[in-house]
Amino acid sequence: TQRILAISRDITAQHRHDEELQIAKERAEAASVAKEEFLANMSHELRTPLNGILGYADLLSSDRSLLPSQRHRIDRIQDAAGALLAIVNDILDLAKIEAGDMTLQMRPFRLAKLLDDAADLVLPMARSKALSLDLALDPAIPEWVEGDPERLRQVVLNLLGNAIKFTQAGGIHLGVTVEAVAAGRCRFEIAIRDTGMGIAPERQHLLFQRFSQVDASNERRFGGTGLGLAISRHLVEEMGGRIAVESAVGLGSTFRLSLDLPVTEEPERLLKEAPL
Ligand code: ADP
Repeated sequence: TQRILAISRDITAQHRHDEELQIAKERAEAASVAKEEFLANMSHELRTPLNGILGYADLLSSDRSLLPSQRHRIDRIQDAAGALLAIVNDILDLAKIEAGDMTLQMRPFRLAKLLDDAADLVLPMARSKALSLDLALDPAIPEWVEGDPERLRQVVLNLLGNAIKFTQAGGIHLGVTVEAVAAGRCRFEIAIRDTGMGIAPERQHLLFQRFSQVDASNERRFGGTGLGLAISRHLVEEMGGRIAVESAVGLGSTFRLSLDLPVTEEPERLLKEAPL
């Protein structure tokens, strides 16, 4: 009986240990869900008033009778609120990724037009630093492909924004190039190349990790959350693609995306041809 008692005590102790482990696991899961919910709620709560600030600043800036000094101040409000909104959006995206809630909205879109529009959007930023911004699109790229254009635009804008941000101003040979080639029937390679400061080899693997700014001093010099590339990598991988970097200090960096995007028809044609 003594042996049986000892075994039974062992089993009870093991059982208690398992239960404690289970409770600790459940608590940790609940805390992580609470944290994700908090991040998502906070981001929504922050976005609403920020959109209010941006909306009213836009209204104010459309007033033609503004003095230059007033226009300058409204521009600063728009810049600051826009920067804050970008940070809030990054945090919201990260919360979605951590919660496994990042879903893509697939629809037909024009790949070349998306790249062209993204370049147009950052052109003022490139101009303000006297950088060239060139687009080289392979004519073999089919017009309509299928994917999530909003999320792809976000990735491209992040890479373009970084390329401009981390390239010193001025000089004839300084600038950013966007290159896109059709590498197979549905395979596309997009390269965003800059002639900027570059990234040391030992730091390149840190780039795509959350919160990592390669150079801590960059944080104060250039601003930014250090989340952009982590989010971009997640989005590209969610699309079934890959993102990679090649870089040399002082010469510049190239970020390459390779994506499989099914070629499709123009949406109106699809609609017209769809059986009723
Ligand atoms: P953020 O730009 O908001 O800091 P990112 O995740 O987009 O965050 O980039 C992380 C870091 O990688 C940047 O802070 C910078 O140090 C480095 N980096 C990104 N793109 C480039 C680039 N084109 N040239 C040089 N450094 C870069």
